[in-house]
Amino acid sequence: MKHALAIRDALLQWFQGEARDLPWRRTKDPYKVWISEILLQQTRVDQGLPYYLRFIEAFPTVADLATATDDRVLKLWEGLGYYTRARNLHKAARIVVDEYGGKLPQNAELLALLPGIGRYTAGAIASIAFGERVPVVDGNVKRVLSRLFNLDACIDDPETERDLWGLAETLVPQKSPGDFNQSMMELGARICTPRKPACDSCPVRAWCQAQALGLQEARPVRRAKKEVPHEEIVVAAIRREGLYLIGKRPPEGLLGGLWEFPGGKVERGESHEQALIRECKEELAVPVRVGGMVASVNHAYTHLRVTLSVYRCSLASAKEPKARRHTELRWVAPADFTQFAFPKANHKFLELL
Ligand code: SF4
Repeated sequence: MKHALAIRDALLQWFQGEARDLPWRRTKDPYKVWISEILLQQTRVDQGLPYYLRFIEAFPTVADLATATDDRVLKLWEGLGYYTRARNLHKAARIVVDEYGGKLPQNAELLALLPGIGRYTAGAIASIAFGERVPVVDGNVKRVLSRLFNLDACIDDPETERDLWGLAETLVPQKSPGDFNQSMMELGARICTPRKPACDSCPVRAWCQAQALGLQEARPVRRAKKEVPHEEIVVAAIRREGLYLIGKRPPEGLLGGLWEFPGGKVERGESHEQALIRECKEELAVPVRVGGMVASVNHAYTHLRVTLSVYRCSLASAKEPKARRHTELRWVAPADFTQFAFPKANHKFLELL
């Protein structure tokens, strides 16, 4: 590859002088590197940083994480979203303790066998913590590479993805592969940003093909985004003697293992009241009376937008609710809500209760 050496050197030099001082960069402890890499997926550094500090304080070693309860792990992840990350981290910690004597495997190939560790994360841990010469390709790296080499193929296509990994593999040096990989990600996060990249401050501008042609904002080429669907959700804040009924979601799937209020999607042609009565019957096997609305909040996931309409409700019979969809039900005082991990959307109305 033309200019590979020059690009590498310029990036490494820039990274050594300009890298942000972040706690996970002050350590080569594979466990801490792993936690930071998982936390920072889909999460900005400023948002992820306090979570990282709290997580490492609560679980300083992989053994501490392995022996923690699911609820404690999810509580520390609460508000970050993508809870499968936390559940996989927990599962993988147990495997590391049971099968690898509490030490993370030392190469990308073995790391990628652990739950939640894909090619990217395996490459990041192996190159940063163990100095293995393996590439990483995340969203930032894809953008930098497609601009540097002016790729006009759509980066969402599997063939382009393969080419990007190939380019990254050619560029990554034998010496300091971890620093090099981080320099690419750092460049994408701070200089080669999705909009208005700061080409004037870019250490690899001299070799950037898209910049030379004025095409930097037209790269990378992406597939047109599908419109994100919207769902109406009703939420039952069922109160009895000052306590509210909450349920724990099954461990699999979206928001798995988190606590929530009963409720669900409003079906076509249903009123909110009808939907609440039906959902409570299906989920709890009890009839409810629906009172006034507490709040209506909007929340956006990457694949879905929801509007949650929260209603005060009470049990309409003396029957005790049964957990039909949840793994567990509890009656909880509002002052104790903080002890449970709720999805982020629920935080928008919890204090109103
Ligand atoms: S010159 Fe501009 S477009 Fe090219 S890599 Fe640098 S910041 Fe990105």
